[in-house]
Order: sequence, then C-alpha cells, then structure tokens
Amino acid sequence: MQCIHCQSENVVKNGTKTLKTAQVVQYFLCKDCGRRFNERSGTPMARLRTPVETISMAINARTEGLGIRAAGRVLGKSPTSILLWEKRLSAQLSNFSPPSPKEAEVTIKGDEVYTRVGKNLPPLAQ
Ligand SMILES: [Zn+2]
Repeated sequence: MQCIHCQSENVVKNGTKTLKTAQVVQYFLCKDCGRRFNERSGTPMARLRTPVETISMAINARTEGLGIRAAGRVLGKSPTSILLWEKRLSAQLSNFSPPSPKEAEVTIKGDEVYTRVGKNLPPLAQ
C-alpha cells in the first residue's frame, strides 16, 4: 500500500469503517504526510456513497440496453447518478489492459469492479 497523496510507502493501517452494505473499508495513515485515506481513495469508487453492487447493476442494466431513465427507475437512483458512474467507470475502463480472448465479453459484477480497478494501477503506484 502506498500513500495516495505523497506516494510514500510509510503507511500503516488505521482502522476500518463498515459501510451500510456491510462492506468493510480499510483505512490507512501515511506517516510521512500525516494524511488518512482508505483503500477506495483514488479509485472511481472513491467518494461514491452508493454500494459498488448497485453501480454494477446499473452498468449491467445499461449494457443490456436499458435506457438511463429506466435504469434509474429500476434501481431507485437518479439518471444523473447513473450517468456519473458511467463517466467514472468508462474513464477507468479505458486504462484496462486489453482482455484476453476468452474474456472478450467482460461482465462487470459486484466486487469485480473494485478488484479490477485495484489491479489496474499504473506500475509506479504499486
Ligand atoms: Zn503521504
């Protein structure tokens, strides 16, 4: 783990927070710059209060051809939120390395979004 603010490796675990979705987010404290961040910081999921699962469902619904308003109605979210998630995720997806042929049809589901994002940091950030 590396500090997202100053890239220092001098980082210690600093508590966890349990989200409404029972997802546990690990927090870290950077001993060099003194700032605190969590494992979602710096990913497209950072500062989104919506569970990753809901976002994935929205993206999947959209991939299946559901309109932005219909997807919003199904999930009880505003079309604006869904647009925002799509924007964030598409920005991130363009950084993905090309999938292998058997993964040509990439289905985003659940934690996979987060896992992929975590694995796709540029080499310098690892
Ligand atoms: Zn730092």
